[in-house]
Amino acid sequence: MLNQEYSIKIAHLYPNLLNIYGDLGNIIALRKRLQDRNITCSIINFNINDDPYEKINDCNIFFIGGGQDIQQNEVANDLKKHKNFFNQKANEGNVFLGICGGYQLMGEYYKPHNMDKQEGLGLLDVYTVASSKRFIGNVSVKIKNDLYNGTLVGFENHSGLTYFTSQNTKAIGDIIVGNGNNGEDKLEGAYKNNVFGTYLHGSFLPKNPEFTDYLISKALKTKYDEEILLNPLDDKIENMTHNSLYKKNY
Ligand code: GLN
Repeated sequence: MLNQEYSIKIAHLYPNLLNIYGDLGNIIALRKRLQDRNITCSIINFNINDDPYEKINDCNIFFIGGGQDIQQNEVANDLKKHKNFFNQKANEGNVFLGICGGYQLMGEYYKPHNMDKQEGLGLLDVYTVASSKRFIGNVSVKIKNDLYNGTLVGFENHSGLTYFTSQNTKAIGDIIVGNGNNGEDKLEGAYKNNVFGTYLHGSFLPKNPEFTDYLISKALKTKYDEEILLNPLDDKIENMTHNSLYKKNY
């Protein structure tokens, strides 16, 4: 248990619009793993027409879930008003996690089927275009070594195909089972500094405790400007779930 008072504030972006396939589970996992280490955790919901400087300026982790194109469009129209704010927060080294639709809106743009292009925040050097097919199923990922040596599991359900536009943004991992970003380059997710996007629902973090702790460590490092070692938790159930899903192709 940590012997100093640490705290982390999480901004949950548009929870009423982008929270498909249980993406709220990601917030629950972050809060649980913080509280289990005696790190104070507060969660602020950020919605359409809210003022980010007023509401979430002192947050350390920013989370945005996935959704259908219609809701994504509503969010995109609100998000573009705050492009400078979120780019400033990312440049400060705060942690972002976007899932599927949220991931797409952290890129340069998302072009749905028969809808206008949705402008993204430009936090990740990627763009997404909707395809005629839909990727649905379990996904297993081998994380790229420049992050850490590990694996990820989750569930994908998207028609968007995501492509990189610069080497400053890298893939989180290699696809072992499933489609990932676009079903062609066998890559999944994207990250740039402490901004992470992934297609993995499930929800994602509860089944990937190591990655959850990786995000928490990054957020603490940025806030306190020191490496804070997280004491291990009893992850028997989380690891059993993770291992039972890894490489499952049904
Ligand atoms: N609407 C986007 C797509 O279909 C994102 C879907 C989602 O968030 N699951 O690609």
